[in-house]
Amino acid sequence: MQIKVKEADAPRPSLRLPPGERPHTAIVELGVLHSDELLVYVHREAMASMARHAQLGGALEVGGFLLGGYYYSRGQRYLDIDVAFPALEAKSEAISLTFDKVALKAFHKERERRFPSKLILGWYHTHPRHSVFLSPDDVFIHKSFFSQAHHVAIVVDPYQQHRVEQVGVFVWESTGLSQGYHPIVYEVDPA
Ligand SMILES: [Zn+2]
Repeated sequence: MQIKVKEADAPRPSLRLPPGERPHTAIVELGVLHSDELLVYVHREAMASMARHAQLGGALEVGGFLLGGYYYSRGQRYLDIDVAFPALEAKSEAISLTFDKVALKAFHKERERRFPSKLILGWYHTHPRHSVFLSPDDVFIHKSFFSQAHHVAIVVDPYQQHRVEQVGVFVWESTGLSQGYHPIVYEVDPA
């Protein structure tokens, strides 16, 4: 297994109003549980992209990368994830997912071409019917390749009955990797 997504230096959050306060944005789903240390906003389109990918994967685990910005406002750090980028070349199996060299090369090439200004904020993957948590392998991947303060893991189980149990966001807190929080979903009004 090889993942090389580390940026040279850990980025610092820049000052920006969060979705909901920023002009032309609105919160559509206020997750009921958040980290005190790092809020995670996900654009509705990025949520839809992960859901579509999960449906395509069916019983197989699929995954990809999360892109966007790292900001703060009134002393609160937050992530704004506006792109969920499917790693279509990753190898899927029923309970594991491997991002190999080919998948990573394809991802980096596409990212440079289409989203040169966005940060890699983390990764997502699906757990079809086995609920939202980080397995020991997931924790290994996250610690090894997504160890910076702004890195998150999102786990999606589209088969869970209740909406808040379908998506979990895991962030770095001062005490270590967090429990699965709920993302705050927002939309952008083009007007
Ligand atoms: Zn997993």
